[in-house]
Amino acid sequence: MAGTSIGPTSSAGRILTDSHFGRYPLGVDLHTTVADRLAGAEQRYTANRRAVVEVLDESDRPLTIPEILEHRSGLAQSSLYRNLAVLEETGVVHRVHSSDDFARYELAEDLAGHHHHLICSSCGTVADFTVSAEVEATLEAAFEGVAGATGFRAEHHRLDLVGRCRACA
Ligand SMILES: [Zn+2]
Ligand SMILES: [Zn+2]
Ligand SMILES: [Zn+2]
Repeated sequence: MAGTSIGPTSSAGRILTDSHFGRYPLGVDLHTTVADRLAGAEQRYTANRRAVVEVLDESDRPLTIPEILEHRSGLAQSSLYRNLAVLEETGVVHRVHSSDDFARYELAEDLAGHHHHLICSSCGTVADFTVSAEVEATLEAAFEGVAGATGFRAEHHRLDLVGRCRACA
């Protein structure tokens, strides 16, 4: 999730406060939304899947599978692959591509909020960042101009900065 644009946290899970996508009403509990989404695909929101969602929700950047296992030592690696695949197929989790061979996972943007990434081309670390609503509006207007000129129907944008993180610089 985006570290600087999140809503309040409670033991029941974060309450969704980002209206950027408008697919879910504000104030809906994250875990209720995830459970509904899984149920729509005839999948159950098991304790292990909930644990994965919690780890990703608590992180301020996308995590590799080894990092997820570090956060929850009780998760078995074999079932983690399967659970991540199900969560990705059902649109709960998004896979982030970086410069190394590790897949990184985060909650989908409509759950975590719209944000951008800093991708280190040296070590592969990915960090989340957000810009102000004013800057987002300026970006959207610029992108609409590009899309309109080419007849492309844009649904959303992804914008990452690639460079070197502090540790690698
Ligand atoms: Zn780096
Ligand atoms: Zn992210
Ligand atoms: Zn943006």
